[in-house]
Amino acid sequence: MNGAKRGGVTVIGGGIIGTVCANYLQREGHTVTLIDRNGGDPDEMCSFGNTGGVSPASVVPIATPGMIKDVVKWLMDPLGPLHIRWSYLPACLPWLIRFLRQSSPERVRAISKALASLNRETFEAYDPLLKEAGLQHLFKRTGQLFVYRSEDGPEHDRFAIDLKRQVGLPIEILGAEEIREIEPAISPEFRKAHFIPGHGHCTNPYGLVKGLADHFVRRGGTLLRETVTGWDIGPEGPRGLRTASGRSIEVDKVVIAAGAWSNALIEPLGHRVPLESHRGYHVTLSDPGVAPRIMTLSADDKIALTPMDMGLRLAGNVELAGLDAAPNFERARKLLRIGERVFPGLKTAKFTEWMGHRPCLPDSLPVIGRSPKHANVFLAFGHGHQGLIGASKTGQVLAEIIAGRPASIDLRPFRVDRF
Ligand SMILES: Cc1cc2nc3c(=O)[nH]c(=O)nc-3n(C[C@H](O)[C@H](O)[C@H](O)COP(=O)(O)OP(=O)(O)OC[C@H]3O[C@@H](n4cnc5c(N)ncnc54)[C@H](O)[C@@H]3O)c2cc1C
Repeated sequence: MNGAKRGGVTVIGGGIIGTVCANYLQREGHTVTLIDRNGGDPDEMCSFGNTGGVSPASVVPIATPGMIKDVVKWLMDPLGPLHIRWSYLPACLPWLIRFLRQSSPERVRAISKALASLNRETFEAYDPLLKEAGLQHLFKRTGQLFVYRSEDGPEHDRFAIDLKRQVGLPIEILGAEEIREIEPAISPEFRKAHFIPGHGHCTNPYGLVKGLADHFVRRGGTLLRETVTGWDIGPEGPRGLRTASGRSIEVDKVVIAAGAWSNALIEPLGHRVPLESHRGYHVTLSDPGVAPRIMTLSADDKIALTPMDMGLRLAGNVELAGLDAAPNFERARKLLRIGERVFPGLKTAKFTEWMGHRPCLPDSLPVIGRSPKHANVFLAFGHGHQGLIGASKTGQVLAEIIAGRPASIDLRPFRVDRF
């Protein structure tokens, strides 16, 4: 920890990205203000309801070679893992075209390298924050199991598994018996798996955000429940911000970490990125009747099942319908039917359901770094399907560059003006 006194930093967005950034900046000696609009309604943030996967070898972008065939198949199934509300298609078509353009093998290898730089040290970069906040109990590094129904499942996924291997963690290919040794409750339908013992999960994703925010406040940080609506821009960049409650707040340096809503804050500053919400759903079963020990992902169904403090969470789905359309909770309930096939003993009577907005850019990489237009503005958003994983290194790197030190990873792939 660097105790030197530094200037003020205002972080906008109190999800996992903003909260980790605020903690790292505070450790550097900055006076930090964290602003989030979610007083009392935390489930609006994507960080509230994710599946909790903490995966250093999560380096495979969403668009991969040949995926167009799968996309067509998924779109034909009304409750499949991908859904586009047809009324929203004109709005998201440009994004989809950009997304598919990122799926060539060369692009995927380059993206994967950048993802590896961000994600491979996820546990190490969380460590100091968790220790100081007393939150180590929320992380279990007990492995993740990716299961397939067909014998040739891992072979079919070989391109992705090879990308994961570049991170250097062991990946074991398992047969039916070995799968049941690790998780006896899994259906015998699943005959193959790849197992990554060095992966893990968080047992309470919102508890993590809340615990880090509480720790930040205990150490003298300021947490404001406000909606930021605009900027006061001086000759050298933003000097203040305005809020929905009518306040004007002076700022020195600013970090924008507003997840899927970040374009509204960066546009007045002269930036715009193709940021799309991949709406995802979860159900959390308080009495699941099975007690899996580790996180299981069904590669065939595109669903993750994670044991959490509040029960068993089943999550998945990508729905393209924008930020404002009402959730379709039928998509969440479909997860229950898939869950029963993964764990035949699953009890599904008691559950809560949720929808959240994953902030996604077409190349599956976030925006991280200093604004090329305003020297006092820093950007940290767009972490898509991997924000819990990428948050720790993002916070560490932003603290480095805001303190004037070189970043410990190459930030060029994460530039805001790359599109
Ligand atoms: C179903 C599902 C499963 C997932 N599983 C995983 C997983 O296993 N592992 C993983 O790494 N990731 C996972 N993710 C992705 C992960 O949850 C996100 O990448 C991450 O939560 C994004 O964090 P964030 O802080 O950028 O955004 P958010 O958590 O959405 O936080 C942004 C905050 O900014 C606030 N805000 C926005 N605009 C303003 C404004 N103008 N003024 C004030 N406040 C504002 C918002 O209200 C919000 O609270 C999953 C996501 C979903 C939906």
